[in-house]
Amino acid sequence: MLRTAPPSRHSLVVVVRAIACLGVLLGAGCGSPAASRDPAPEGPYVLVLGTAQDAGLPQIGCRAACCEAARADPARRRFASALLVVDPASGGRWLLDCGPDLREQVEAMRGHPPTRALPGARPPLVDAVFLTHAHMGHVAGLLHLGNEAYAARDLPVHGTASMAAFLAGHQPWALLVSLGNVRPVVVEPGVPTPLRGPDGAVVPGLTVTAFRVPHRDEVTDTVGFVVDGPSASLAYLPDIDKWERWERPLEELLASVDVALLDGTFFADGEVPGRALADIPHPFVSETIARLAAQPASLRSRVVFTHLNHGNPAADPTSAAAAAVRDAGMRVAREGDVFGL
Ligand SMILES: [Zn+2]
Ligand SMILES: [Zn+2]
Ligand SMILES: [Zn+2]
Repeated sequence: MLRTAPPSRHSLVVVVRAIACLGVLLGAGCGSPAASRDPAPEGPYVLVLGTAQDAGLPQIGCRAACCEAARADPARRRFASALLVVDPASGGRWLLDCGPDLREQVEAMRGHPPTRALPGARPPLVDAVFLTHAHMGHVAGLLHLGNEAYAARDLPVHGTASMAAFLAGHQPWALLVSLGNVRPVVVEPGVPTPLRGPDGAVVPGLTVTAFRVPHRDEVTDTVGFVVDGPSASLAYLPDIDKWERWERPLEELLASVDVALLDGTFFADGEVPGRALADIPHPFVSETIARLAAQPASLRSRVVFTHLNHGNPAADPTSAAAAAVRDAGMRVAREGDVFGL
């Protein structure tokens, strides 16, 4: 059902965002790793753990300025797209997408929430995982949960039926399932999944709901997620082919949530030398800006681009592309950003 967020709920998101950005005034840089140390609100919130396309920034073997600059200046590095849903009241936290940078992203999770103090030598890193699809930037981190690494126990991994069948039926993922490191849980698109805290109890007022989208379904099908909290809701949609290929209008999704982290893989055509972008379709950031130009500012301000490819100029806040995003009333996600729920 379409739900338009009242202004008060949206204001909450903006306020929390402002708190997260105080680091700018203090010289720490909004969205730098330092931002994750900013005080968290008392209610549940979403912490941004990664904002890059699957292969991260710098990307393997890239000798162009985009990646050489990130090697020279670690503040320019970006991890593969992922979010952490955090609930201070229960001490719970849940991971959306589990890419190859999980090893470092676990460090960014420290203190989220401060109330999380679980006993044992290997307490659960998170209370559950939700996966959008099986391209490498969204599932490769599961390997860190196997017996060669953290040796997780019975961690629920939520995905579509296609994802659950993929994990259980194909190595190396099947080994994680058969050894009990992870437990695939099928989610039905459109049906909210209640989140369970470290004690196994359902956390009131906090759910994750998948919605199906078109994306090169080479390995599994693909979903985005809406995280609903007691005060606000957030959409996470890192990969989709093109807005026009989706039966649901983007505007309708935006009207139903307070903030939407959307596929910002490429800013414009021609960004991947030697490859035809028609083979790897995504909505260009420039197309999303143009599509929403006639929409009210209150709707445009909900757009936060994530999943940026290494060559996307908008990753650099000083670029003309980043300025175009700001001029459109939108934002580019930074690791450490916090959105209240
Ligand atoms: Zn991806
Ligand atoms: Zn590069
Ligand atoms: Zn993908």
